[in-house]
Amino acid sequence: MQANLFTSFLDNLFAPSSSKRKSATETHEVVIIGAGVAGLVAAKELAAQGKDVIVVEAAKQVGGRVQTDEYKGFLLDRGFQVFIEAYPAVKRQLDYKALNLQSFLPGALVRAEGGFHTVADPFRRPQDLIKGLVAPIGSLTDKVKVGLLRVQATTTPLRSVFEAKETDTLTHLTKTKGLSPAIVNRFFKPFYQGIYLAPLSEQSSRMFEFVFKMFSEGGISLPARGIRAVPEQLAASLPAGSVQLGVSATRVRDGQVELSDGRVIAADAVVVATEEGAARKLLGQALTKERSTPLGGRGSTCLYYSFKGLAPIKEPLLILNGEGAGLEAGDGAGSRSSRSSSSSSSSKGKVSTTKKVVVGGKKSTTSIAALLTKRPSVSSASPLPASSSSSSPKIPINNVVFLSSIAPSYAPKGKTLVSVTIVGTPTLPDSLLDKTVREQLGPWFGAATVEKEWELLRVYRIPYAQPKQTPPTGPSFVQPAEVRGKKGGKEEGGGLFVAGDYRNTATLNGAFESGERAATAVLAHLKSLEPEERVFKDGGKDGGRSGGGGGRIISSNGQKVGDTATSDAPTSSTSSASSTSSSSTSDVSTPSSSPTILSSSKTPIVSVPSFLSRQPPSFSRTSSSSSRTPTREATTVFSRFRQENERGRATIKKVVANMIGQRRNA
Ligand SMILES: Cc1cc2nc3c(=O)[nH]c(=O)nc-3n(C[C@H](O)[C@H](O)[C@H](O)COP(=O)(O)OP(=O)(O)OC[C@H]3O[C@@H](n4cnc5c(N)ncnc54)[C@H](O)[C@@H]3O)c2cc1C
Repeated sequence: MQANLFTSFLDNLFAPSSSKRKSATETHEVVIIGAGVAGLVAAKELAAQGKDVIVVEAAKQVGGRVQTDEYKGFLLDRGFQVFIEAYPAVKRQLDYKALNLQSFLPGALVRAEGGFHTVADPFRRPQDLIKGLVAPIGSLTDKVKVGLLRVQATTTPLRSVFEAKETDTLTHLTKTKGLSPAIVNRFFKPFYQGIYLAPLSEQSSRMFEFVFKMFSEGGISLPARGIRAVPEQLAASLPAGSVQLGVSATRVRDGQVELSDGRVIAADAVVVATEEGAARKLLGQALTKERSTPLGGRGSTCLYYSFKGLAPIKEPLLILNGEGAGLEAGDGAGSRSSRSSSSSSSSKGKVSTTKKVVVGGKKSTTSIAALLTKRPSVSSASPLPASSSSSSPKIPINNVVFLSSIAPSYAPKGKTLVSVTIVGTPTLPDSLLDKTVREQLGPWFGAATVEKEWELLRVYRIPYAQPKQTPPTGPSFVQPAEVRGKKGGKEEGGGLFVAGDYRNTATLNGAFESGERAATAVLAHLKSLEPEERVFKDGGKDGGRSGGGGGRIISSNGQKVGDTATSDAPTSSTSSASSTSSSSTSDVSTPSSSPTILSSSKTPIVSVPSFLSRQPPSFSRTSSSSSRTPTREATTVFSRFRQENERGRATIKKVVANMIGQRRNA
C-alpha cells in the first residue's frame, strides 16, 4: 500500500506536466518583461547584438516611473524628476544632444531666516562665490570643507565610492566630515531628502558620495520634451514591433512567459525588468530566497501650479526649504523650527515618526505614518476656496521649482509652471494639501499672489518612486542579474534574469546599469547554449513579431497609442505598474516623434520548449512566414527528453522500492 502510494506519487512527479505547462504560441530569443528604462536598456543592448528581443509592458506607454503627462498645454512629469548629466551608464546609452537638455544653474537657492540665500558652486559659477560666502547657510569653515569635499569627489574613482566604509549620511556629514548642524539642516538635509525621500539617517553615505560626485562633475537639467524623452529615445532605438504595450506577464515558468492576452511566449532567455514587488510575484522563490522581505519603497508627492506672467525668481534654480524641510523622522538633525515640535525616538536605528502637527492653530500629536498613503494617484485640481476656514496639518514642503524658468517648453507662452515637492505621500485630501502648501509659500512669494493667482493643476502622489536602500547595504549595491542561468541551473528554468533599480543603486543610473548587466549576462547565456538546447531557431530573423512600418505606436489592441486619450496604469493584478504610474485618464497624448512600437504578435511560429523542461516538445505552426517542420534537432530533443525522463523515473522507483523493502525486513 505504502509502496503503491509512493510509486503513484513518483509517477505524478515525473509525468509530463502538460497540464502545468502551456503550449507556446510564439518563440523569441529573449523576452523582456517591463519597458521601464532598465528593460529598454537591456533590449537596446541585445538588439544591437542582433538578438531577437521582445519587450512586453503592462502600461500603455514605455518608461515605467519616468513619465510626462501633457495637461492644458503644460508638461507635467509624473513627480518632480531631474536629469543628472554625469551618470555614467546614462551617458553611455543616450544621445544628450537629441534630448535638448535645459539646464538648471549649479547650486541652489535656500529659503532660511525669512529670505532666499544662494548656495554657490564657485567652481562652475565663480560669480556666485561672494553671495555664497555671505549666505547664512553654515559657517565659513563649513564652506571651505564643502569645497574640499567637492575636490575629493571629483578626484575619487567611482569604484572607491562604493567600496568605502559605509555609514548613514547624517553621521557621515556631521561626524566624519565635521560639518555644522546649520549647513546640514539648511542645505544637505532638504537637498538629499528631496533626492532619497528619506531622512539623512536612512541614507547610505556611499550614495551621498556618489550623488555628490555626480553633481560635482556635471549639470542637472530637463529634456525640453519632458522627462519621458529619456525612455522614448531608448525605445526608438529598437526594431519596429519590439515593444508591446498594454499586455502584462502573468506567469514566468521554465523559459515561458504567459501573458494577460492569453499568449504564451517561449524564449531562450527571460529578463524580468519590473519593480521589485512585481518581480517577486512573477518569480516567487527565485527571488524570495535571496531576501525574505522586499526592500519596500519611498514616495513623494508633487503639486503643480501655474499662473500668468513671469516667475518671481527668474534664475533657473532649485529652491530648497531650509526652514524644516521634509518629514522629520527623528534623524537627530531636525531644524530649529521642527525640533521644537517634533518628538522622535530611536531605538537600534529604528525610528518612530510621531510629530506634533499644527491643526487649526493647536498642536496635536499625529503619527506621520498615519498621514501617508500607499496608493498612487494623480488628481486634477479642485482647490479649497480661499475663504475656507478648514484647518490644514502642516506637511512641510521640500522644494519648489519654477519649471518654465528651466525649460520654457514646460508651459504655454505667457504662463509659469511651478512644482512643489513633498517627501512621502500624505493622505490629506488635495484641498488640504493645497492649503498647507499655499500657507507655507505665502511668506515666500506673497500670500495674496499665491492665494489668488496660483492655480493648482494636478497633484501626483507616488508611493513607490524608488526602492528603499537603507544602510547597511552590504558589500555592494549590485545584485546579480542572473537568477537561474544555465550553469547554476541546468535543471528547469535556466535562462532567467532580472533588471531594475532595486538590483543596483536606486537611481536612473542604477536602472540603466542593471539593464546593461542583464544584457551582458543574457549574451553569455545564449552563447553557452548548444544548438539543440535553443528554443528560438531562426537565428534572429523574424522572431514572430508582426511587421509594420516604423513611426507608429500601436498598443496590444492594435490601436495607435497616440490616438488614445488614456495614460492609465495597467489593470492586471500581477503588475505592480499600477503602483508607480498615475491613474490619470485624460489629457495625455504621445507626440509623433515617438518610437515605433507595434501590436502584439499575430504570427506565432514553431514552439519548441527547452529540452531542459519536463514536457515533450509541442509544435504549433500557424504562420506561413515560418515554413519549418519538426526538424531533426527537435526529434533529437524529443528522444533525449524521453530517455532521460524514463531513466530517472525507473532509478528513483528502484531506490524507493529498495528503501521500503529494507524497512519491512528490518
Ligand atoms: C517622482 C520620481 C522622481 C525621481 N527622480 C529621480 C531623479 O531625480 N534621479 C534619479 O536618478 N532617479 C529618480 N527617480 C528614480 C528613477 O526614475 C527610477 O530609479 C527608474 O526609473 C527605475 O526604472 P526601472 O526600469 O528599474 O523600473 P520601472 O520604471 O518601475 O519599470 C518597470 C516597468 O515594468 C512594468 N511592469 C511591471 N509589472 C509588469 C508585468 N507583470 N508585465 C509587464 N510589465 C510590467 C511597469 O509597468 C514598468 O513600466 C525618480 C522616480 C520617481 C517616480
